[in-house]
Amino acid sequence: MSDIINLLPDSVANQIAAGEVVDRPASAVKELLENAIDAGATNVQLVIKDAGRTLLQVIDNGCGMSDSDARLCFERHATSKIHAADDLFAIRTMGFRGEALASIAAVAQVELRTRQHDNDLGTCVIIEGSDVKSQEPCTCNAGTSIAVKNLFYNIPARRNFLKKDGVELSHIDEVFRRVAVVNNHVSFTVYSNGKLLYDLREGNKAQRIADIFGMGSSEHFYPVSERTDIVSVEGYVGKPEYVRKTRGEQYIFANDRFIRHPALSAAVEKAYSDLIPERTYPSYFLFIQVDPSRIDVNIHPTKTEVRFVDEHALFAILRAATKKAIGQFGLATEIEFNPSTEIDFSDAPSGYIPPEPRVSYNPNYNPFEQKTSSSSSSGASTHSGGNASWDSTYAELRRPTTVESRIVEDESPSDEMAEMNSPSMPLSYMNTYIISTLKSGILVVDRQRAHERILFERLMAHKQQTDKVTASQQLLFPVNCTFSPSDGEMLGEMIGDLRDMGFAIDAVTQSTFVVTAAPPDVNDSDLQGVLDQLLVDYKGSMMQKFADKDRAICQSLARQMAVKNGKPLQPEEIQALLAELFACQVPNISPSGQKTMYVINKDELAEKLR
Ligand code: ADP
Ligand code: MG
Repeated sequence: MSDIINLLPDSVANQIAAGEVVDRPASAVKELLENAIDAGATNVQLVIKDAGRTLLQVIDNGCGMSDSDARLCFERHATSKIHAADDLFAIRTMGFRGEALASIAAVAQVELRTRQHDNDLGTCVIIEGSDVKSQEPCTCNAGTSIAVKNLFYNIPARRNFLKKDGVELSHIDEVFRRVAVVNNHVSFTVYSNGKLLYDLREGNKAQRIADIFGMGSSEHFYPVSERTDIVSVEGYVGKPEYVRKTRGEQYIFANDRFIRHPALSAAVEKAYSDLIPERTYPSYFLFIQVDPSRIDVNIHPTKTEVRFVDEHALFAILRAATKKAIGQFGLATEIEFNPSTEIDFSDAPSGYIPPEPRVSYNPNYNPFEQKTSSSSSSGASTHSGGNASWDSTYAELRRPTTVESRIVEDESPSDEMAEMNSPSMPLSYMNTYIISTLKSGILVVDRQRAHERILFERLMAHKQQTDKVTASQQLLFPVNCTFSPSDGEMLGEMIGDLRDMGFAIDAVTQSTFVVTAAPPDVNDSDLQGVLDQLLVDYKGSMMQKFADKDRAICQSLARQMAVKNGKPLQPEEIQALLAELFACQVPNISPSGQKTMYVINKDELAEKLR
């Protein structure tokens, strides 16, 4: 039999390797930024077009490369950072595996321009799909510029797999922040489609954090500082009163490398136990330094997963350091945490007059009020037509079944209620479920999901109305909310939708927004949290194939606005809630697809009671 094994050509091997190292534009950005840092750059520019699909370019003023290095750097396992196996235990650079550029060049069209500082001429290499097209001398600035064009041009499957621009951009943003936070001695600019997203000057870590994460950071953190024989920990931990609804601002760096380490994160969070509400997350930025021989960064190609030799000790030290910071500085004066830009956003900037809210305010608005179909001004969704699509299982709920002389065609929510109230008023169980009797059995309604459904349909109805009269509540004081630039941009795109729903919101800068009115059910004491959650949900929904912007926004707000389990409601509120539920187009399913109600019928009961 003939031999069948052959060695893969480099271009194929590189493409396979690229699958691990470069899975989306953000991972290419990470590699290029890290190379710039390793090259000793003090200024780095990142230029992105179409969320990295068309172009991602990193320009640095680092050491540059010689002519032959410029060509060699695209070979697999080509690295200047280690020479022997022993070097693996003394790694101080971000890269060392020598596979990033080879991988990127295998799946894109790459143009490299580079010049060493003591050379007059630089060199320009063009490489496409691992194939070197040309190398010529060129004039260029000292340092290196790598432009990656049409990423995955030769792998349509992967290119098609990329998410919407907003999502890819937010991945790039996250990668950028992880590099920029820790390299505070480097100045960075980031452009996306010609728009300046970041302009970070060098400064201390606190300034860098404030510059990246918005001005809201200023009074939100305590400093951490702990030195032991095996580790030193510096950084900042969020005050317990400034927890967020998402894990967004949680960063641990080991030897200046962002790492993902669930056990260490848990150690930090443990220090907060009992201090913060459930399902909220403290923010932290912790910079750990350990001897390179006591950390293994080579367990994963992207090097974000690492192992420590002294894991248990580290765990205890981090937890203690955090506890100490929270306790020790609890009453101390605020730390210097001002952004390097001299703008103070803690209040609206001087000269800024918050605009009149653009929505009318209905002081009599009551979310539980029973609506008639003509009362559109109070924000009710009309129930006409909705019943037609109602699953026949629930048809009975709509039909009056009492002996009283009701006319079936004359359906209205109050008819449904009459049916349910007779013979009994709905009951509340654990402030979570509503229980009522029907002719066909016992109705159990999940209160929170039901309310979510009602609010969702109401918000959607408003979005679709042309003459919008939305319930809105003027805030006592305007509230400033801050976001990362890319989140800010995303929120900016939603501003019109939010106004339709009762928010009076305006952009002050790209990352700061002022809210002067909000829909009545929104928790106006935590608007930052509401908008943070909205962004998280929105990004999550946009990942899905049949994403619908309106739905995503309404769904997130409805979920946040819905009355929470455990909160007592008045009997009339419960009654109104049921009435509104049955007036919905799809009363039996919550906006996120869960059942809102269940009917235990007679047979089922009989079965259980056998
Ligand atoms: P690694 O970073 O793991 O060494 P890469 O494929 O990312 O592997 O880069 C290969 C080599 O190319 C690096 O070791 C370095 O010598 C050189 N190089 C890459 N980017 C730059 C840059 N921006 N400036 C100077 N040299 C660079
Ligand atoms: Mg590298």
